[in-house]
Amino acid sequence: MLHICCAPDATVPLVDLKAEGWKPHGFFYGSNIHPEAEYRRRLDALMRLREKEFFPLRVSSYEPEEWFSAVESFLDEPEGGERCIACFSLQLTAAARCAVELGCSCLCTTLTISPHKDVRRIDSLGQALCLSYGLKWLGRVWRKNDGFLRSLKMTEALGLYRQNYCGCACSMRTEKGR
Ligand code: SF4
Repeated sequence: MLHICCAPDATVPLVDLKAEGWKPHGFFYGSNIHPEAEYRRRLDALMRLREKEFFPLRVSSYEPEEWFSAVESFLDEPEGGERCIACFSLQLTAAARCAVELGCSCLCTTLTISPHKDVRRIDSLGQALCLSYGLKWLGRVWRKNDGFLRSLKMTEALGLYRQNYCGCACSMRTEKGR
């Protein structure tokens, strides 16, 4: 089960996992994305990627209130702080549940391709979640070995939409050019 945060970040993980012999099943959460029109735009990009890369995909229903409840104590945190950890936890928990439901044995995430994400915290979260859900954590740092640069090139070659902020309303203030 490959947790997908967005189409551009999924490009390299999908290609590399398949090259290693895996058959990734995608899971997209998306309720962290604001506004809804942006969520739709990112989902459309993911559907386009699915047409190119042929992989099964489960899309969670869009429930921004659920995301807000999980992070509301951390709204003033800077990007990369505790709000993001709560957000990763929500997304990865949803992916782990889906993996169990679909009979997948392993869990992996595209989050680690971004140079802005805390890989160590993502890895510990993934390991802990997999332990409690009976899954194997496939810890990968996709940004290594020019992974991020490759994802930029692949996104451009495929003509996929690439956003310029992480996703939530708080991150619209920072616009780090992802
Ligand atoms: S900045 Fe990104 S990871 Fe952090 S809370 Fe917002 S959507 Fe989630």
